[in-house]
Amino acid sequence: PSLHISTTLTDTPTSDERLAEIHADPGFGTHFTDHMLTVEWTPDAGWHDARVTPYAPLTLDPATAVLHYAQETFEGMKAYRHADGSVWTFRPEENGARMERSSHRLALPVLPAADFVQAVDALVTADERWVPGASEAGEKSLYVRPFMFASEAFLGVRPAQHVTFMVIASPAGSYFKGGVRPVTLWLTEEYTRAGRGGMGAAKTGGNYASSLVAQQEATAHGCDQVVFLDAQEGRYVEELGGMNLYFVHDDGRIVTPGLGTILEGITRASIIELAGKLGHQVEERPFSIDEWRDGVRSGRITEVFACGTAAVVTPVGELRWDGGSAPAPASTDLTMRIRQALVDVQHGRADDTFGWMHRV
Ligand code: PMP
Repeated sequence: PSLHISTTLTDTPTSDERLAEIHADPGFGTHFTDHMLTVEWTPDAGWHDARVTPYAPLTLDPATAVLHYAQETFEGMKAYRHADGSVWTFRPEENGARMERSSHRLALPVLPAADFVQAVDALVTADERWVPGASEAGEKSLYVRPFMFASEAFLGVRPAQHVTFMVIASPAGSYFKGGVRPVTLWLTEEYTRAGRGGMGAAKTGGNYASSLVAQQEATAHGCDQVVFLDAQEGRYVEELGGMNLYFVHDDGRIVTPGLGTILEGITRASIIELAGKLGHQVEERPFSIDEWRDGVRSGRITEVFACGTAAVVTPVGELRWDGGSAPAPASTDLTMRIRQALVDVQHGRADDTFGWMHRV
């Protein structure tokens, strides 16, 4: 790592009483820690002026390029407290590497993954007491949001000459209150999220902006999440608005849609390795919506699950579309075993045999 990070701690840290209240009911993405990290980039100086400062609003020129052309990338990851009080992140160098790829696609300067990890560590260290205690049980963590945006005030359409990288953090509770339950999915046949040569594999705001209307459609049909199909043929399953998909077959095979136009999930990649250890071969390949519908109906597909940082692993229940539905698969056994194995490693309750955890 090569950043020289200065630290100015706040004079008015959140009180222990208030922090205890937030930890008791963190929700998601509404409470922010006492500090933020910022690094600036210009073509001449490269990455410079790295600093941890008290959390505060930004003042932006109305012509700031990101507000007009959405040149930005972001990441999502978590910090966990283990029983001995130590704080860890899960495969942060993978988030850093993904942000390198996303930034390349968005014509943003690349922050090296090692510097990304150093920056995340610096913020988590400054806000260590915001990482929920291990005794607070379950799956509480500190959600960390690194992001990079075109901060130049200029209205021309070209890569910005001033870019800002930041890290903020927000305590996260268990995704599922009252226990894990299957999510109901809506299949959108009108909207797609990514095309060939597009930016589907990048973690950039535009992909999420374009998913919102489809998510609204899902909600209007009583579903939790939306499933996107490929843009070219409208036949192959891609992913959900914010999670990757897995299909478990009665003969033990597991299939997940191949890479290309989907977000390369770090949970997805970890499950490929974990499943191997559990004796299951994972096939990465095109997986058609007919294969899903027929497989669930015939019983050849025994489980479907979704995965991502926020919810880790989630069983998928019913699939609905305009004019029909396919029932929830029969089982959630392997889904819950994979879920438990991952959660236990993240929270330090199982041996980290893959070397996935990074001590902050
Ligand atoms: N797909 C999309 C579109 C996502 O936003 C996410 C969440 N980052 C994922 C998949 C899962 O990725 P990860 O396992 O790295 O959280």
